[in-house]
Amino acid sequence: MANIESLYQHFLNHPTICTDTRNIVDGCLFFALKGDKFDANTFATQAINQGAAYAIIDNETYLTGDRCILVADVLTTLQDLARHHRNQLSIPVIGLTGSNGKTTTKELIKAVLSQKYQTFATKGNLNNHIGVPLSILSLTSKTEIAVIEMGANHQKEIEFLCGIAQPTHGLITNIGMAHLDGFGGFEGVKKGKAELFAYLKAHEGFAFINRNNPYLMEMSEKANLNKIIYYGTEEINTVYGRLIKSDPFIELSWSSKSGSFNTEAQLTGTYNFENILAAICIGQFFEVSPDEINTGLAGYAPNNNRSQITKTASNTVICDFYNANPSSMAAALTNIEHLSSNNKTVIIGDMFELGQESAMQHKLIIEQAEKLQVNTLIFIGKYFYEAKDTHKGNFFNTPAEAEAFLKVNPINNSLVLLKGSRGMALEQLLPLL
Ligand code: ATP
Ligand code: MG
Repeated sequence: MANIESLYQHFLNHPTICTDTRNIVDGCLFFALKGDKFDANTFATQAINQGAAYAIIDNETYLTGDRCILVADVLTTLQDLARHHRNQLSIPVIGLTGSNGKTTTKELIKAVLSQKYQTFATKGNLNNHIGVPLSILSLTSKTEIAVIEMGANHQKEIEFLCGIAQPTHGLITNIGMAHLDGFGGFEGVKKGKAELFAYLKAHEGFAFINRNNPYLMEMSEKANLNKIIYYGTEEINTVYGRLIKSDPFIELSWSSKSGSFNTEAQLTGTYNFENILAAICIGQFFEVSPDEINTGLAGYAPNNNRSQITKTASNTVICDFYNANPSSMAAALTNIEHLSSNNKTVIIGDMFELGQESAMQHKLIIEQAEKLQVNTLIFIGKYFYEAKDTHKGNFFNTPAEAEAFLKVNPINNSLVLLKGSRGMALEQLLPLL
């Protein structure tokens, strides 16, 4: 069996990691991970034939020649290798978690820090027990600072990911109604996310905290954090700001010891105000100049279906169908309420992973949505359908049924919110909008 030291030598010579034979890069290390439906051990030889330098496997049956490296467990080896690599690097690593807005805030921080530093940030949404090690293994000797997104849907997951990424700085975007099922309710979410603060406390790391968020304040006190940089709306904060407008794009003013400034972003959604302020606070802490901070923020336009505004032939669509949970759904509804348009459409789909709170949370969203001044209100999915009762709006069990409705009742010249959990795949309705 190979040990981590010898594997690390291979990694230094072949620093690209691949886990999918559809994307083999010449000279990579292929890690044969297992999924629910596949065992990549069976692809090891294929990976080598396609150009992988070595294949890391954990099933002897597939050992074919000296370019296969046998380990006890491929996933654990990947995580150990990442931890080992992290130990060789003495750069700031910003660990980022929270219920909503992680990816957006990560991109904003990257946009700001990249103005001054060679910045690595998690690619896309690679934020789990595989994604975090892959992110860490992407850091090179040239990387000056890293922003690592950490996602979790159960206790001890953030603690584990912190052990790999070893953040020197941390940010929890917020605490909301997400993954209630796995965390065991809202208190469970707080406990799970607070593992980042516990790690920072134990390793003398810095936390960036939104003072306007009572949950984060409570958690930071409980963790007994002492290295804190605050941001928020009040002057008492190191960086404080005010939302000037959000229709459709955000403009804010902010102040710090460097003076007072205005920032315009290409993001919609009042909720993005706090995401932007977090990025400003971190930029300021790492001594990116206010001009550079603003340039970075102004240059970031989402193309990931999060808070993204798309003009179609017939409508303006707020594409927010990447994901949904009760907090982000409520925030998106509040946002469209405040946007100026005399023709609005709301199309929202089921929110998953809510466990026993599911029925109640869907009902609450229906109640919020039916109060909105909108021309067309559409709910899609079985959870909304089950909570339909006597509420107003058009309810459909499946996206296909909604599609049939839209074909007969086309939407034109409207500002449309399209949002639902990933599994609802609401992008399938976009061609009809
Ligand atoms: P995931 O858990 O899928 O990784 P995430 O935490 O990375 O999600 P984003 O992908 O950045 O979050 O955003 C997802 C959606 O959450 C956005 O499209 C928006 O609707 C909502 N959102 C973003 N920021 C906030 C916020 N600060 N408060 C509430 N909702 C937000
Ligand atoms: Mg994300």
